[in-house]
Amino acid sequence: MNRKKLLIFVAAVIVIAAAVFVCIKPVKNYINSKKEYTASGFYMNTYVTANITGAMSEETTNIILTNIDTLEKLCLSKTVEGSDVYKLNEKNSYTVSQPTLDAIVTALDVCEKSGGALDIGIGGLVDLWNVNQGASRPPDEKQISAIKGNRYRNISVSGSEISLSDSSKIDLGSVGKGAACDSARQIAEMSGIKRAVVSIGGSIMLYGEGSFRVGIASPEKGSADYIAAINTSSGFVSTSGTYERFFDYDGVRYHHILNPVTGYPVQNGLASVTVVSDSGILSDALSTACFVLGIEEGKKLAAQYGCQAIFVTDDKKIYSTNGIKNQIEITDNSYILAD
Ligand code: ADP
Ligand code: MG
Repeated sequence: MNRKKLLIFVAAVIVIAAAVFVCIKPVKNYINSKKEYTASGFYMNTYVTANITGAMSEETTNIILTNIDTLEKLCLSKTVEGSDVYKLNEKNSYTVSQPTLDAIVTALDVCEKSGGALDIGIGGLVDLWNVNQGASRPPDEKQISAIKGNRYRNISVSGSEISLSDSSKIDLGSVGKGAACDSARQIAEMSGIKRAVVSIGGSIMLYGEGSFRVGIASPEKGSADYIAAINTSSGFVSTSGTYERFFDYDGVRYHHILNPVTGYPVQNGLASVTVVSDSGILSDALSTACFVLGIEEGKKLAAQYGCQAIFVTDDKKIYSTNGIKNQIEITDNSYILAD
């Protein structure tokens, strides 16, 4: 190769390399980008926020929010006409879609293992109290007596067909947000994003490497203020609290977590229960069930599912299962960690 040809060859290599660099660079930047996107909405009768980091963060956020809305409207809502649960309650027997079936089957297992503290057949009692829809006084005692008692045993599953053997109405308010967190996680896995925090009311999905810090809401001020933080890795955290939905009547607070057996809101000195799990629906089901059961029985139930639970009492003590004790950091010094 003479000198002129060598120069032409070197120039050609430089031009080709530059072209390749210019073409590849934007793609590489896009794939490696730490783009962060946050969006909020009101779904499942509560505030939902998704914060996502990684390429496709905006698209993934939108898909997650739309999916929560879809799951509510087509599957889990008791009040949206045409959802699986609406039709099931109307017809007493209905072949439901897979997400509804999965939620009901998992919830029924927790109903059984909690001895009926969780009872998804509680729809009639929930409607009677109407706490979620703005009631301002308790219902008549006779009406409560007529409808109270465990109902989940009247729900049977055969394939995808769910049947109700009496006038029980299914209410998935105790598990729906957790189930939606599970589907948010599936979407996060599919999209290849790096990190996601999706909160649906009191249920949170944490996805990605490293640790996350999750606040435990103040029973007095709700989620606007926190009394403690949990340091945890990816997974699910759900809280059930008296402060989320309630009304005061004649000096008594009536909240939305009902004891199916007495027919009245649970009054056992607890202000909230938080459950940490590697399943969204279990964290949600167990936070409600453990609230009804109280500290000792609640700890045993959480252990059966390999989950951790944190109990906050009205007199400002924080109890927990052993596996999470050293991950709790108190941020409001009027609360103390108890054994
Ligand atoms: P949130 O709705 O704030 O997430 P929970 O997960 O604790 O709170 O669920 C409470 C909801 O579940 C109530 O609003 C009601 O619809 C329903 N519910 C109330 N008591 C029970 C119970 N003992 N078992 C099953 N569902 C219940
Ligand atoms: Mg719950």
